Amino acid sequence: MKKKIWLSIAISGVLLMSTACSTEKQATDGTKDKQQTEQSTEKKVDEGHLDYSDQKDWEFTAGKMQSPIDIPTNKTEKMTEDTGTIQLEYGTDITSVENNGHSIEVTDGGSAVINGRHFNLAQFHFHAESEHTIDGKHFPMEAHFVNKAQSGRIAVIGVFFKEGKENKGFQEVLDDVTDEKNDPITDLDEMIPANKSYYHYLGSLTTPPLIENVEWYVMKNPIEVSKEQIASFKKLYAHNNREIQPLNDRVVLEHGE
Ligand SMILES: [Zn+2]
Repeated sequence: MKKKIWLSIAISGVLLMSTACSTEKQATDGTKDKQQTEQSTEKKVDEGHLDYSDQKDWEFTAGKMQSPIDIPTNKTEKMTEDTGTIQLEYGTDITSVENNGHSIEVTDGGSAVINGRHFNLAQFHFHAESEHTIDGKHFPMEAHFVNKAQSGRIAVIGVFFKEGKENKGFQEVLDDVTDEKNDPITDLDEMIPANKSYYHYLGSLTTPPLIENVEWYVMKNPIEVSKEQIASFKKLYAHNNREIQPLNDRVVLEHGE
């Protein structure tokens, strides 16, 4: 009992100290502090040394709109003016498939029209297990299609992968990694569900610099990949999913098709 009390005193002491330190830093030299943080996180990404077993070490300005989140299906709200259709015309000719140290990332082009607004596909990549969860449950994998608007706005489309039949599109990605080639992903459509019902919320990037105001569109319907394909990806990245972040006062909206 005594030990416990001492521990909690020690912890609150450390917390107080760190709060004080960061406040002081910001007050004296807020700009420089921010620049340094950005530089060091960029460096981390460049080096591809993201340590998923020590995520507390990822430097970021703590926000209340972080991703990924658990999606509680009994608390989602239907979009009131539901004009939220997604139309995708993603290119099959890719620029590169990169094993970048924290995922397989495919640089691609093409367009996404989300709720009447235009975005361009920048890249897509994969996580194992899934980053988002549905009612506390992970899927074996999740793909992220990262789209950017001219304004700089980012919209990520998340697709859950469940175990089932082989996926031709994902196989083309795996083959490109093995062969170190950038052959077209002709069956890219197979990695996106035909029915584009989704959950929508505002969050963040899930790797440093973890910037916020990222629009998330998490597809309700998973696509299938084979057990072997999941195993092939996990040989490269057995654990590259960020921990679930608190929802705080955000609301998850729902679009049905
Ligand atoms: Zn991602």
